[in-house]
Amino acid sequence: MAESQFQPVLQRALSHALSHLENLDRLPVSAPVPLLQLRARFDRPLTDRGVDPVTVIEDLVADAAGGVLGSTGGRFFGWVIGGSVPAALAADWLVSAWDQNAAIHACGPAVAVMEEIAGKWLKDLLRLPSEASFAFTTGSQLAHLTGLAAARHALLARHGWDVERRGLAGAPQIRIFSSNQRHGSIERAVRLLGLGHGNVLDLPVDGQGRLVPDALATGLGTDSDRPTLVILQAGDLHMGAFDPFVELVPVAHRHGAWVHVDGAFGLWANASPRYRHLLAGVELADSWVADGHKWLNVPYDSGYVFVADPQAHREAVSHRTSYTTFVEGARDQIDWNPEWSRRARAVTTYAAIRQLGRRGIAGLIERTCRLAQTLVTGIGALPGAETVWEPTINQGLVRFLSRKPNATAADHDARTDEVIANTIRNGEAFFGGTTWRGMRCMRVSVCNWQTSDEDVNHAIAAIGKALEF
Ligand SMILES: *Cc1c(COP(=O)(O)O)cnc(C)c1O
Repeated sequence: MAESQFQPVLQRALSHALSHLENLDRLPVSAPVPLLQLRARFDRPLTDRGVDPVTVIEDLVADAAGGVLGSTGGRFFGWVIGGSVPAALAADWLVSAWDQNAAIHACGPAVAVMEEIAGKWLKDLLRLPSEASFAFTTGSQLAHLTGLAAARHALLARHGWDVERRGLAGAPQIRIFSSNQRHGSIERAVRLLGLGHGNVLDLPVDGQGRLVPDALATGLGTDSDRPTLVILQAGDLHMGAFDPFVELVPVAHRHGAWVHVDGAFGLWANASPRYRHLLAGVELADSWVADGHKWLNVPYDSGYVFVADPQAHREAVSHRTSYTTFVEGARDQIDWNPEWSRRARAVTTYAAIRQLGRRGIAGLIERTCRLAQTLVTGIGALPGAETVWEPTINQGLVRFLSRKPNATAADHDARTDEVIANTIRNGEAFFGGTTWRGMRCMRVSVCNWQTSDEDVNHAIAAIGKALEF
């Protein structure tokens, strides 16, 4: 038998992957190697003859050392970042090995069917209407683009305007309401769809970060014949706040608005009996977005959009050509996804849901919420620290106080940034900073399936050390 072209290089990759994953506990969580050094390492001569695959992988791993964040481990609390449960990671490798083009069913029947089933399971877990259509996108950013394209289609069709054919010039202008705590990806989706982010009207939130219903009702009441989009939040990135859907969605619908929900991570709280009360009424909306690569802990490239009106979704997105092959009764991903060739990215979600099951997913949500609470209050109790937002779900805020006599707000801000930097330099835990309600804070976000009580205690101790400087 001829020697395998794949065997040696895949074996090396497996061995390096295992050594990365199994040493996460011992390695720094941060990536200390400076930018210029990384560039100098990777900028090898571009050769004429190429290099054998094992050398490519060995060099690549050696050059990456110190430049890979430990974000898949249990002591990474920056941004909103999950790791990968083992079945999802392994499934991701198979997706690469199979290398199917998941644009249409005919290009990869098995992965297309896994996508159908994963979509059905997600609607069940996230408690969304079973008739809703769905698409698997790169992340919430493109999921917003897709859901809002469906919204644009439906809102303008009601005004007799075929936006897909005529474009936006001359169309009735869509106004957009959302809370001032929305994620920046909303702005970008709105921009790319030609809706203009200047047409997004900011509404105030209450002390709990929730959009104030009266403010929405007042906004909707003026100019009420205009096509209107209302964008609500299921879990904002500072407080994990949920807009009061039961109150807001019926009001928006009474005014003919389309309601889109950004639930990038927060929609997962609906998979937990303990937390789903926070999302009461969310199922009444028109489109929803969530990520797999955050709280479900599947590898990156995993966003979802769901649309209550499949026809609006399909008309906004579908693309057909004479040279595609259609299989009777099959679901072609290209009808729902704003892409042509694409990775079979639903396979990791399929695998993660199978590994965890309903109870495993609820357990993951509940455990990370509990650990976020312990972590925030534990840090907040350290001398020189203060709890700013105690988590309702898995997101909290703390800050650090300057020891200077008569310290000003600016001194506390500087101290907060300094403690975050000290912690990251130390490499035992990773947190990010933010400006929230005018003050610098450290964000505490617990999303990883591997985070344990021990990790949390270790992280609190690491902050304690950072506070000594
Ligand atoms: C992460 C996040 C997004 C963007 O999601 P991507 O998957 O990074 O595109 C949008 N909204 C919220 C609330 C988020 O946390």
